[in-house]
Amino acid sequence: MLATTVIDDASPWGTGEANVFSSCVVENMVALTFDDGPYIYEQDILNTLNAAGIKGTFFVNGNNWGCIYDQWQSLQDAYWGGHQIGSHTWDHPDLTTLSWDQIDQEFSSVEQAIQKIVGAQPAFFRPPYGSYNDEVLQIAANHGMNVILWDLDSGDSTGEPVWYSEQQYDAVAASHPNTVLALNHETYDTTAYQVLPYAIQKLRDAGYTFGTVAECVGGLEAYQWTSQPGTWDDSWHC
Ligand SMILES: [Zn+2]
Repeated sequence: MLATTVIDDASPWGTGEANVFSSCVVENMVALTFDDGPYIYEQDILNTLNAAGIKGTFFVNGNNWGCIYDQWQSLQDAYWGGHQIGSHTWDHPDLTTLSWDQIDQEFSSVEQAIQKIVGAQPAFFRPPYGSYNDEVLQIAANHGMNVILWDLDSGDSTGEPVWYSEQQYDAVAASHPNTVLALNHETYDTTAYQVLPYAIQKLRDAGYTFGTVAECVGGLEAYQWTSQPGTWDDSWHC
């Protein structure tokens, strides 16, 4: 079953490239994902997800809309609440424009922050803009990452209005694909307060169950290892 959704596991170097998932595989499951944080709406998004009994997935940056260390409490709440934390690079570049060492640093820097804040090393990575090449996949593999894309884009990050995002969820509710891997961004108040509640209601009414990305791709481990989080000190800054 996995083989049909791993869209890029062929490598001239054999097993040296990360697997890329563009869709979930668990029948009738939706994974709601939230990129580009952690940001000021994260806690409210968590409250909405928790009230609905849904585990979401957050692909976080180190220093994008805000500094990860300024949102350490909501990131801990997300992690301890059973939501999945994934990597989305330190400062959100198009990785295909960078050198090997620069790409590697983008992975390492945000991993280090995530490790400090929640005490875990993610096993899932989403490339900014969905942009990757063979180098990115090799470095992702070196970092132990599965690479995750999406098959539903709410359009929030490209400036689409709320009605447009809602229409994307209406469309999948109507066409009812077997699985949904939904891209949202936690950096918009409209996503947090309007689109998310709408999407949950719509998809739930359509009969879907909800899971994290790790669950929806077949029950993989969300983290390579877990440990105790660090304690806040003045090294927690961007
Ligand atoms: Zn992003």
